Amino acid sequence: ATPTAVMVGTGQGARAGILVKNAEALELAEKIKVLVVDKTGTLTEGRPSLIDLRCAEGVTRAELLVLAASLEQSSHHPLARAVVEAARAEGLAPQAAEAVQAVGGKGVTGRVEGRAVQLGSPDFIEGLGVAVPPALLEPLVSAALTPVAVAADGRLLGVMGLADPLRASSKAAVARLQAMGLRVVMLTGDHPAAAARIAAEAGIAEFRAQVLPGDKAAAVEALRAEGRVGMVGDGINDAPALAAADVSFAIGAGSDVAIEAADLTLVRSDLNSVADAIALSRATLGKIR
Ligand code: ADP
Ligand code: MG
Repeated sequence: ATPTAVMVGTGQGARAGILVKNAEALELAEKIKVLVVDKTGTLTEGRPSLIDLRCAEGVTRAELLVLAASLEQSSHHPLARAVVEAARAEGLAPQAAEAVQAVGGKGVTGRVEGRAVQLGSPDFIEGLGVAVPPALLEPLVSAALTPVAVAADGRLLGVMGLADPLRASSKAAVARLQAMGLRVVMLTGDHPAAAARIAAEAGIAEFRAQVLPGDKAAAVEALRAEGRVGMVGDGINDAPALAAADVSFAIGAGSDVAIEAADLTLVRSDLNSVADAIALSRATLGKIR
């Protein structure tokens, strides 16, 4: 496109709530075939809450919540915030935690009150050698909640079930993108059952669940064999996938790392802005060559 067309497009984008960091990306947006969409914080509000909690025998709800909140208080993960809020709402104060380590896409480990505590996805906890009994896990999975298992000193304390609501604008935005001819694919590190629920609510037929942060970029790369790929994300863990896409969009309310990695920033944190950007690209830039 001519420099003038790009300037006009960039200005129109800004008025529509799309901040263009890379003008070339706005031109490329016209021909996006596959749009990869992160789940947590992009399709959803990114504000999960604790819905259910199942304790192992002899474990109290308070004991489990205090240990979990103690590990989570230093984490910025959306699930971590939900756990800390749930503990506080029940009048429980998180305790000091030591040697806290976040394991990306899996969970957190550390020491609380002299105990070795681990929490995260059931797969992560089982990988540490602690069985997660189906009697505790299944009710949460059946309800399509995100399960977070908690263990201390090699024993399972229980499983929490969390849910993060779909953004009010997501369903209509996905329908609009699909009507524009895009294939929308959801990518998430979440459990398959929780992922399936959000995908269905959003009207997305195709999704990949339990994708580790390091594998998100490879998933985007693989889709590039099928045409030009756009990616929308909000989190630190989305940055490599954003960088791997032909055109990348960051949710404005997302992490600085995602915004830094993306070509375009959506001021309104609304997927409709992705459709607006593609429409703008088609209308003002695509035809001026
Ligand atoms: P997403 O792709 O939805 O952003 P992540 O890759 O951040 O998800 O996390 C994937 C999974 O890892 C979560 O669904 C959860 O089971 C587990 N997990 C990661 N970090 C944490 C944490 N701080 N607290 C609890 N669970 C966590
Ligand atoms: Mg996210």
